[in-house]
Amino acid sequence: MTESEVRLIDEKGLRVDGRRPDELRPITFKIGVLENANGSAYIEQGKCKIIAAVYGPHEVHPRHLSMPHRAVLRCRYHMAPFSVPDRRKSPAPTRREIELSKVIREALEPIIFTELYPRTAIDIFIEVLQADGGTRCAGLTVASLALADAGIPLRGLVAACAAGKVDGKIVLDLNDVEDKEGEADLPVAYIPALNKILLLQMDGILSANEFKEAINLALEGCKRIHSLQVEALRNRYISMEG
Ligand code: UDP
Repeated sequence: MTESEVRLIDEKGLRVDGRRPDELRPITFKIGVLENANGSAYIEQGKCKIIAAVYGPHEVHPRHLSMPHRAVLRCRYHMAPFSVPDRRKSPAPTRREIELSKVIREALEPIIFTELYPRTAIDIFIEVLQADGGTRCAGLTVASLALADAGIPLRGLVAACAAGKVDGKIVLDLNDVEDKEGEADLPVAYIPALNKILLLQMDGILSANEFKEAINLALEGCKRIHSLQVEALRNRYISMEG
């Protein structure tokens, strides 16, 4: 479908789900949702529903896969077959899921003090239960909370959020229709504690000025999500004390 066939911003400047251009989707977190994982967390971001579980640090089998000076981080991003409208989503790992597992692992590795756990593995499972755009970012955000819930020492929490261009305008936190029908999508993962970007991808075309505007907006979104992560962790520990 061409750009002109789908109207993504109305005459009042609002998006298909009623948001302003710089507005995030509503976000809620639950921490410690699984009994059998060492750490877990759940996120709802708009219509996206994603759960993350962390196991480890634990022994590596076979042992030759272990590293003498640090823990090995393994990550599996998976979309449940019922998470998307098209029934063609195979339960087997797709090329996209393999790519996302890799980029999420690479974004999370620098935040973990892996050197504290030589010869072990830390496993992160991200299960997308319902997808509506931006699942790599929401998956990263919730995985960093699951790592914290597992008590694994972290340099900080990673928050991730995309910005992009729809109907010629730079907008924050694209949903599925904006991702598919818009002109560009720029997912960013950011760790405020180190002031570092840990993931930066781009799909579509932006001018240099649009790119600057989009990355600044995505970083602003990451900072807002980070505040929500901190609040959710704090509430979790207050409720455990009570
Ligand atoms: N999607 C889908 N079927 C698939 C893969 C993705 O319907 O097999 C949808 C889903 O809503 C996802 C969106 O397309 O969130 C955007 O996918 P993309 O690959 O850009 O990754 P994401 O934005 O989720 O990180």
